[in-house]
Amino acid sequence: MTSRVFCNRCFQPPHRTSRFSLTNCGHVYCDICLHKGKKDECLICKAPCCTVLLSKHTDLSIQAFFMGIDGLCTKYSKETSQISEFQEKHKRRLLAFYREKISRLEESLRKAILQIEQLQSMKSSQQTAFNTIKNSMSMPLAKPTGHLHLLPSSSDSERYRYINTQSSRKSLNQHL
Ligand SMILES: [Zn+2]
Ligand SMILES: [Zn+2]
Repeated sequence: MTSRVFCNRCFQPPHRTSRFSLTNCGHVYCDICLHKGKKDECLICKAPCCTVLLSKHTDLSIQAFFMGIDGLCTKYSKETSQISEFQEKHKRRLLAFYREKISRLEESLRKAILQIEQLQSMKSSQQTAFNTIKNSMSMPLAKPTGHLHLLPSSSDSERYRYINTQSSRKSLNQHL
């Protein structure tokens, strides 16, 4: 502890062997004054309290109350940069995780799009094949028009035969 520590009750300059205690109500006592008061009660403010001995082994957060501004700045700027470095690493790990996840998702999306394109091309080629089969099956139904064209010639010959029969009948009647 530094020379900034002094007893809040007797204000005696500290000796080499002096020991001081801090109460949770914020008062500092030398050993002599501390033993003059009641146990677990502050002699100055009468508040129920507990005390902690100030030494180089005391918790650093308590020691900080007795440090000079320069020391505090060094301590806290070091702590701040350590904390900031830790947070930065922590954030980078999370970002790396999300980047990896995003690239995995992009890869599966790319594969899915490829599969969809393949399925669509298969579907369209199947559709083409189906249309070809459908057209080839409907061809004979369209042909009768052509077939009917052939009929007049046969009906012509039939008509010719009919006329011949009629004329032969006529001539036969004339003979009779
Ligand atoms: Zn004292
Ligand atoms: Zn007090």
